[in-house]
Amino acid sequence: MTLQEPVRFVRGIGPKKAELLEKLGIATLADALLCYPRGYEDRTHITPIRQLIDGEKQCIHAVVGAAPQTVHIRRGMDVTRCKVYDDSGTLSLRFFNQKYAAGALETGKEYAFYGKVQAEGRGFVMLSPEFEPTGTGSRTGRVVPIYPLTAGLHQRDLYRVTDAALAAAAGDGPADFLPQAIRERQGFPPLRAALSDIHRPQNMQQAAQARRRMAFEELFLLSCGLGFLRARRSDKSGALLRDLSLNAFYRALPFALTGAQQRAIEACTLDIAAGRPLSRLVQGDVGSGKTMVAAALCYLAAKNGRQAVIMAPTELLAQQHMQTLAPLFQKLDVSCGLLVGSLTPKQKRDMQQQIADGTCSVIIGTHAVLSEAVHFRDLAAAVVDEQHRFGVSQRASLTAKGENVHLLVMSATPIPRTLALLIYGDLDVSVIDELPPGRQKIKTYAVGEDMRPRIDRFIDRQCAEGGQVYVVCPLVGDGESGRTSAESAAERLSKVLPQRRVSLVHGRTKAAEKEQIMADFAAGRIDVLVSTTVIEVGVNVPNATLMVVEDGDCFGLSQLHQLRGRVGRGRRQSYCVFYGADRGAEARERLTTLVRTNDGFVIAQKDLEMRGAGDFFGTRQHGLPPMKLADVAGDTRLLEQAQRAAAELLQTDPSLSQFPQLRARVESLFAQYGEGSFN
Ligand code: ADP
Ligand code: MG
Repeated sequence: MTLQEPVRFVRGIGPKKAELLEKLGIATLADALLCYPRGYEDRTHITPIRQLIDGEKQCIHAVVGAAPQTVHIRRGMDVTRCKVYDDSGTLSLRFFNQKYAAGALETGKEYAFYGKVQAEGRGFVMLSPEFEPTGTGSRTGRVVPIYPLTAGLHQRDLYRVTDAALAAAAGDGPADFLPQAIRERQGFPPLRAALSDIHRPQNMQQAAQARRRMAFEELFLLSCGLGFLRARRSDKSGALLRDLSLNAFYRALPFALTGAQQRAIEACTLDIAAGRPLSRLVQGDVGSGKTMVAAALCYLAAKNGRQAVIMAPTELLAQQHMQTLAPLFQKLDVSCGLLVGSLTPKQKRDMQQQIADGTCSVIIGTHAVLSEAVHFRDLAAAVVDEQHRFGVSQRASLTAKGENVHLLVMSATPIPRTLALLIYGDLDVSVIDELPPGRQKIKTYAVGEDMRPRIDRFIDRQCAEGGQVYVVCPLVGDGESGRTSAESAAERLSKVLPQRRVSLVHGRTKAAEKEQIMADFAAGRIDVLVSTTVIEVGVNVPNATLMVVEDGDCFGLSQLHQLRGRVGRGRRQSYCVFYGADRGAEARERLTTLVRTNDGFVIAQKDLEMRGAGDFFGTRQHGLPPMKLADVAGDTRLLEQAQRAAAELLQTDPSLSQFPQLRARVESLFAQYGEGSFN
């Protein structure tokens, strides 16, 4: 058979089984080859009966001592018992509802048995073991692959199709696109051997090494693809901005920029000066001052007689930007305007007119700027704030409103660098790892339930002193599994703090109402805002001095750090309280990390170590192709190796002309997922 043939032609696989296999994504033998086992059972080690361990699955070689006996226990329950022995001792076997075992086991003959061992009385029993005569070894005495299944399929069906697939691959296998030099440097087996080792390993190390190779391959392919995209971008030219002097901008600022802000701005101007389209992510902790980097870019566009746009995910954030930036731009004689959904039709038309005729140089807005009715006279730069709130396509349609538009995206979620390279695909990355001077450290506490009365009094005192309080809960309503819902927390707080104005906002609150509540909170008309994590990432309420998070153990550390960043934005000492420290050692350790450090990157790294990359990928829209074996979080080292290997290869052969098979795979990856889908 060839790899292209459908699996229904495999012996023992009929149309019915073929249909079930299709559910697993297996239509042809080639698909079967790529359906990797989800795990293995190591049955290579033969344990003498005397050395068996209670509670573990083990393999023995033993002789049947006497004919097995089947006893009918009750309706639907037969038990077959059998005594076996080896040189070291004897053991009872017990099979449930497997009468065939009684017929299959011959007295005096030696078999390999594999099954779970359990202590009983003074000896051991092995429960419903798999068995076969020794020496015939297909299922015992070796490493047995365990495949993913669906109802109606059995492991033996998967063995059949993968056997057929391996036989087909041995004749005319898939092409190995991994360059030989890289493969050898990593000490990986060639593709065909690796596939065989994945499906039929001799031992566990072989399986692990083969899987490592295939995982590396996935990461390598992706890294090559992303590298390709970056290289392609440098072939394009960016909007031309001749005058890149920022002196007037720096003078107009009410404060000196931090070193990190300056570095990020310089990185942008260098890209622009090189004639390339800027395509950069600015990553910086909440409050690190990313807006000023955006402002610098907008200023440069305006100064060169062009336009710039800043897109924020909510009206509140857009308005906030307007409030900070309008006075600055006014000093610089740069016109700026706000375009959001809530404008009256007339206001909207006016704004659109000013955008179209170029009267307005810097446009600050929400998704409204994406509207088809918005035509820029000459857009040269686009900024996407809180970029994870937008889809990749929205970003693309924003830059499509001009030619060779410089793009700056901003994110407050610190991500370890290796992951950033993946998640942000072909973007360059600047990190703002320094907070503006004079920021107070937020005093952070990880507490248990016993502290609740004190925390309640603390909330009250913050309000009495003129501060405001956020209370964040993991759920909206009907608390399940002992978690606090926002609804119940709001109700409780209204009762214990009757003189405080408590409001509630969550994902089910209507958009208009939500904006109103947020605006009321920002204006100080609400003392305590109870919410789920829907409260906006970038919201800036300097008067908020206390953040209380219920069930802190339910959240990712980076997320908690984000939440904490919503206080400490004003002059007053701010505080953050995480409940959940009484929920076991791991919860306590995680929460204590936040008490100890305020550095978003340290926290992100800790999160990565303790929880894996799920948190980073989970909340984010990314266009990365799914991976079968690679675990980008679990194995950062492999990811780094793959990224380095790809970078080195592309350096020497940017078009991969010497590696046509690799090139073809990279291109088919694009074709499948679309170039635009890589961030
Ligand atoms: P984020 O990175 O979270 O978007 P912002 O840009 O909103 O941060 O800045 C947070 C606050 O810090 C704003 O009030 C801003 O005016 C102020 N700020 C920014 N840069 C500086 C600086 N270099 N020195 C002092 N204050 C700054
Ligand atoms: Mg911001």
